[in-house]
Amino acid sequence: MCPMSTSSRTAIVWFRRDLRLLDNPALHAALKTAASIVPVFVLPNPPHGDLGSASLWWLHGSLAALQTSLAAKGARLILRRGDPAQLLPELAAHTNADSVHAGICPEPAWRAADASVAAALSNAGRTLHLHHSLTLFDPDAIKTRSGGVYGMYTPYANAVRAIDATAPPVPEPDHIPCPQRMPAGDSLAAWKLLPTHPDWAAGLRQTWTPGEAAARARARIFLRGAALHYESGRNLPGHDLTSRLSPHLRWGELSVRALWKALHRHAQNPGEKTFANELIWRDFAAYLLWHHPDLATRPLRPEFENLPWRNDQAGLRAWQQGRTGIPIVDAGMRQLWQTGWMHNRVRMVVASFLVKHLLIDWRAGAAWFMDTLVDADLAANSMNWQWVAGTGIDSQPFFRVFNPVSQGEKFDTDGAYVRRFVPELDHLPDKCLHAPWTAPAQILPQAGVPPGQTYPAPIVDLAAGRERALATWKSTVRVAA
Ligand SMILES: Cc1cc2nc3c(=O)[nH]c(=O)nc-3n(C[C@H](O)[C@H](O)[C@H](O)COP(=O)(O)OP(=O)(O)OC[C@H]3O[C@@H](n4cnc5c(N)ncnc54)[C@H](O)[C@@H]3O)c2cc1C
Repeated sequence: MCPMSTSSRTAIVWFRRDLRLLDNPALHAALKTAASIVPVFVLPNPPHGDLGSASLWWLHGSLAALQTSLAAKGARLILRRGDPAQLLPELAAHTNADSVHAGICPEPAWRAADASVAAALSNAGRTLHLHHSLTLFDPDAIKTRSGGVYGMYTPYANAVRAIDATAPPVPEPDHIPCPQRMPAGDSLAAWKLLPTHPDWAAGLRQTWTPGEAAARARARIFLRGAALHYESGRNLPGHDLTSRLSPHLRWGELSVRALWKALHRHAQNPGEKTFANELIWRDFAAYLLWHHPDLATRPLRPEFENLPWRNDQAGLRAWQQGRTGIPIVDAGMRQLWQTGWMHNRVRMVVASFLVKHLLIDWRAGAAWFMDTLVDADLAANSMNWQWVAGTGIDSQPFFRVFNPVSQGEKFDTDGAYVRRFVPELDHLPDKCLHAPWTAPAQILPQAGVPPGQTYPAPIVDLAAGRERALATWKSTVRVAA
């Protein structure tokens, strides 16, 4: 139940990254103050740079689901494409709405849009109200003792745990009254967010169901089952033991505050505690982007501004296509291409391989992730790439070079993950699955992988690549000192 207003006012609810009805503070606040609501989604034209192909695929499904759930409450979602600073004041004038309510987004493009929308509305005597709902904690409320911004996860996590003042979730409304004369909107199909020729989304369709109902169902299943084994299982890419809630959280189909509350209702076991830490990582990423708007484009540590990256287009392509000759890397990149998602452990391995072994700029890898991940999130992606590259939030930036062979052997011991996504290696014995080039001469042809034919030889010598990376990072730090 939601408190309903007794006024005759109209308010616009501007949906952005909060495509849900449960615990939606913008919707809740609008319903409290206005008698009728105009739900609107505006797609900037062209879409903001962080909306890659997989994100647009997801957005289509998520908007379709939101249209259905709004219709069940008596409301209609108005879709418009263009400049929000032009369209929202027009819609407000048309519907006689005196206010626009939206959730805060940390991306610089949305913050710039907010400033323009607020100015344009205020010229006409109307107001933009922004509500904090994407993260657990308000990024402006978390400060160091000296009033500064945290630069590392652990002190940030300690600070938010000490405060633990997440606002309680607000309820889903029973009914959403709309004005009698609703403005016209675009049809979702006309936006053509889905791929046609070629249709690369078959694997995404098989893997995911966008929308709030699917998000809630997945959260329920996870909290009752895999969450209990999360501590031991979350690092095993061959097993389905993480929540896979990331795209739902990316689009706000699931309220992170409701998830947090549900977690804390359970008697907390180590798995649930670790899972809660991951949600704090997510918050930390948004916090960093909020306070460092160029997180996606510039190293947080200025001494790494001039790392001598290699311009290796062939290496980048081999990495994108999962043809590097390093099985765990190729499995990860193919999982990404086929399903729009990759296991976290493998994201770290493939990112480290690109940045350290191939010495390719982390921004090239981050851009590929932004285009292909269904959970592509400018904050989480940029923070994690900078963490792997050692240009950001890590206290020991350059010694960490993941060895993809030992990572494979440790976390994909039975080879289930590699065999699923690199099926040409299926018949290799476990002991050389993660390093086929070490197999005795007769094994590869026997297993159906004659050297360099069905599966490539490694595109870089791992030991030499590691040494080159360490030397490069060390000399960059020396020069900057
Ligand atoms: C190079 C690299 C790029 C990444 N890019 C993204 C991205 O674009 N979008 C994204 O949501 N996550 C990103 N991550 C973080 C992490 O890999 C995914 O959030 C996670 O794999 C999603 O799967 P899950 O929902 O099953 O996670 P779970 O293990 O179930 O974790 C629960 C939730 O916590 C959050 N979370 C978990 N780990 C992290 C983390 N390291 N940083 C921030 N939030 C986290 C996510 O919202 C996730 O859904 C990236 C990690 C790396 C190493």
